[in-house]
Amino acid sequence: TPDWQGKKVTVAGLGVSGIPAARVLHGLGADVTVVNDGDDERSRAQAAQLEAEGITVRLGDGATLPSGTELIVTTPGWQPDKPLFAAAAEAGVEVWGDVELAWRLRGLDGREPAPWLAVTGTNGKTTTVRMLASILEAAGLRTAAVGNIGVSLLDAVLGEETYDVLAVELSSYQLHWSPSLRAHSAAVLNLAPDHLDWHGSMAAYAADKGRIYEGNKVACVYNAADPATEDLVREADVEEGCRAIGFTLGTPGPSQLGVVDDILVDRAFVENRQKQAQELAQISDINPPAPHNIANALAAAALARAFGVEATAVRDGLRAFRPDAHRIEHVENIDGVAYVDDSKATNTHAAEASLAAYEPIVWIAGGLAKGATFDATVEKAAKRLRGVVLIGQDRALIAEALARHAPEVPVVDLDRTDTGAMSAAVQEAARLARPGDTVLLAPACASMDMFTNYNKRGEAFAEAVRALAAARD
Ligand code: ADP
Repeated sequence: TPDWQGKKVTVAGLGVSGIPAARVLHGLGADVTVVNDGDDERSRAQAAQLEAEGITVRLGDGATLPSGTELIVTTPGWQPDKPLFAAAAEAGVEVWGDVELAWRLRGLDGREPAPWLAVTGTNGKTTTVRMLASILEAAGLRTAAVGNIGVSLLDAVLGEETYDVLAVELSSYQLHWSPSLRAHSAAVLNLAPDHLDWHGSMAAYAADKGRIYEGNKVACVYNAADPATEDLVREADVEEGCRAIGFTLGTPGPSQLGVVDDILVDRAFVENRQKQAQELAQISDINPPAPHNIANALAAAALARAFGVEATAVRDGLRAFRPDAHRIEHVENIDGVAYVDDSKATNTHAAEASLAAYEPIVWIAGGLAKGATFDATVEKAAKRLRGVVLIGQDRALIAEALARHAPEVPVVDLDRTDTGAMSAAVQEAARLARPGDTVLLAPACASMDMFTNYNKRGEAFAEAVRALAAARD
C-alpha cells in the first residue's frame, strides 16, 4: 500500500508481538528492521527465519536507533525508559505499540472496521473480555475475544473473518503505546499496584490505564467500589454524549449496574421508560459466583448494554461462559484436602480475591514481586491461614510480612527457585494441611524466576498434586 511502501520501520523486539508485526509491515511493503536485545539460540533461529523472508534483524543491540528510521513499532513489554526510545524522541520518531499498529491498520482492506469494546484493569481482564464475547455471541453478533488469549489483534483487524464488534483486552503496557486508540466503550475493572517497576510510579500506571477512556463514544465503565477508576473517567476527554457508567456489588444508583436480591440489575440502560431497572441475570448464572467474578460479569454486562445488547443475551452469555485454566481451578481432593490452582494470581490484588474465597488455607506463594509489598495481603488473610509454603526469588518479602502480621502461622521457607521446587512445595503443604483445608497456589508474584509463564507454573502444581494423589492410592 502506498502509505507503507518503502517506509523505514524499526520493530523493537522479537517474540509474540514483534514477529507478527514485522511480517505484516513487510507484507505492506515497508522496509523493516527488527532490533532485539537478546542474541541467544532461540532469537537466532527466529532471526534466520525472518531474514529468509526478506526482513532485516539486528540481534544483541536493542539500544541504537537504525539510521533513517521513520517509525518504531514496539513490543509492549519494552520499558519506556529504554535508550532506543530516548533516541527516537530526540529524532522525532513516533513509537507505536502492537495495539496502536492494529488500530491504525483497521479498514485497510476497505471493510468497515468493527468497533472495539475495551477492557483493562489490574485483574480480571481476560475473564471479563471472555464473558463479554460470550454475551455478544449470545446476542447473535459476530465477535471475538481479542488480546492475551484467543485471536490476536492484528489477525482480528486484517484476517479473513469479518466482525460486528470486538471484545478487546488491553494491558497497561499496550495502553502506554496506543496514543490514537478510540474505543466505542471501555471499562477499567480495578486499579491496584502492579508493574510499578515498569511504569515508574502508581500515578504513571494509572495514567496509562486511563488512556483507555480517551475518545470513548458511548460509555466509560468504572468500578464504583474503586474511586480511582472513576477519577480516570473524570479526567478523560470523551466524545459528546458519552456516559460514565458504574458497576457495584450493592444496590445500583442511577447510571449504574449492580446487585439486588441476588439478581444483576441495570439502571443505566433501561429499555422501558416506565421501569426503574432492568433485570439481567441471577448471581447463580455466573461461574464461579465469587464476588470478584460478579464484578467482572457486571463490567462485561455494562459494555454489552452500551453496545445495545438485550437483557436476555446477557443472561444467556453468562450462562454459557466457562472460566479459563489456572484461574481458581480446582485440581483434586486428597485426604479431605482441596487443591486449588490460582497460578494466574500474579500480583497481590489477585491473590487477595482467591485468599478471600477459602478457609482454612495452606497458602503456596512467592516468585517475582515486581516491586510489590505484601503487608496488606498478609494482614487480610492472616486469620484464614493454616500455614504457608514459600518458593521463588522474592519470598523473603512475604516471609517478613508474615512475621509482622501473622507470627503464629507456621511458614516453610523452601529457599528454592528450581522447577522441582513446586513438587516439594506441594508435599510440604500436604503435611501442613488438615481435612477440610484448601491448599491454594496463589503466588501473588510473577512466575518468570522459576517458570516460562504462569501456565507452566500452574501445570507444575497440578502435576505435583496428581503425583501426590497417585502416591496415596
Ligand atoms: P487478567 O487478565 O487481568 O490477568 P484474569 O481474568 O486472567 O485477569 O484473572 C487473573 C486472576 O485475578 C484470577 O486468577 C483471580 O485470582 C484474580 N481476579 C479475577 N478477577 C478479579 C477481580 N475483578 N478483582 C480481583 N481479582 C480478580
